[in-house]
Amino acid sequence: MVLAQLGGSISRALAQMSNATVIDEKVLNDCLNEISRALLQSDVQFKMVRDMQTNIKRIVNLEALAAGTNKRRIMQQAVFTELCNMLDPGKPSFTPKKGKPSVVMFVGLQGSGKTTTCTKYAYYHQRKGFKPALVCADTFRAGAFDQLKQNATKAKIPFYGSYMESDPVKIAVEGVERFKKENCDLIIVDTSGRHKQEAALFEEMRQVSEATKPDLVIFVMDSSIGQAAFDQAQAFKQSVSVGAVIITKMDGHAKGGGALSAVAATKSPVIFIGTGEHIDEFEVFDVKPFLLQKLSEGSFTLRLMYEQFQNILKMGPIGQVFSMLPGFSSELMPKGHEKESQAKIKRYMTMMDSMTDAELDSTNPKLMTESRIIRIARGSGRPVRDVMDMLEEYKRLAKIWGKMKGLKIPKNVQHMSK
Ligand code: GDP
Repeated sequence: MVLAQLGGSISRALAQMSNATVIDEKVLNDCLNEISRALLQSDVQFKMVRDMQTNIKRIVNLEALAAGTNKRRIMQQAVFTELCNMLDPGKPSFTPKKGKPSVVMFVGLQGSGKTTTCTKYAYYHQRKGFKPALVCADTFRAGAFDQLKQNATKAKIPFYGSYMESDPVKIAVEGVERFKKENCDLIIVDTSGRHKQEAALFEEMRQVSEATKPDLVIFVMDSSIGQAAFDQAQAFKQSVSVGAVIITKMDGHAKGGGALSAVAATKSPVIFIGTGEHIDEFEVFDVKPFLLQKLSEGSFTLRLMYEQFQNILKMGPIGQVFSMLPGFSSELMPKGHEKESQAKIKRYMTMMDSMTDAELDSTNPKLMTESRIIRIARGSGRPVRDVMDMLEEYKRLAKIWGKMKGLKIPKNVQHMSK
């Protein structure tokens, strides 16, 4: 199961709760069991799922709720809050600013994609107008410096390292000092990895961190490690103060739940994802708190649907993540039919391109009279049947979203939605 199915299951579970006539413990348990099953199948760590269940049950003490209180609402809100927290623990502990010197240290296991990611991160910021520089403090892996040097040269990013020096702390300090003098505003320190978590690695990380005083420590994790994600991320977090996470190899067959586990273990957000070996196969990751906001408003317009489609197409395989939003999943993008689903989405978008702003921003489907439908069909060169199809899809999604109306986004997530 990938995140796409996960989104579908969660929305179905929440919607089922809306449909239940009597709200009792069984309804809550059914809902939680369905969500838990989905999370476990996506490789989210067992303990995390259990904690989520416990937290929700603690909030929703059905017996203690006075008669007449809206149990359904309280339950939905509790589940929604927990999921929001799981998806988005807040801002990274630091965000680099142009013109202000900052040090960002990368940590992670060997093979996780750390070195590649350092360059991608530098390149991304360079294009945004930063003056980045790379420091190779990985003295453990033979060839690490060559790799960084090669990548950095290609991207025209200054770099620092040594073939001779074996003390990573010394190299890191020298590199940081040099680039501070050169007025670089984003000094990226690549540290050593190891094949597995071991004391020596963590000790070295701690020393480099102490000596360079990074503004931000980024933990890099390979998305394919599955269930091991939580423990690995936690081990790093316990040694250095991880403030953000980057998940690599999201272009592969990873189920994606590892990302959620890493977020939970480090209490830090995933800020980017790696989607290939190439330097620009790197994307900002944003679990769309904005959409959570919309969801809680319950107002679902065609424009919102259009934006979701855009995201899904842009993100390629990781479009699955957006499917964590109710409705955008199994029905619209059934597993094994991704190509057809993509074609359908593109078709829908072409038709929406022929709609007016008023139509796109309306939440009133009655606006879509027969003559308008014919006009849209003509404008987009599609049969009327296709337009009807697209509007049906819209109504289906709007109905699901409508059921969530009024859910409150937890405070720590709200900042992102501005
Ligand atoms: P390090 O040991 O953690 O520094 O890992 P490297 O940066 O050397 O990366 C290990 C391998 O993973 C290399 O072959 C990279 O090209 C590859 N790699 C890194 N990031 C990604 C990614 O996002 N997608 C894919 N497909 N490969 C990646």
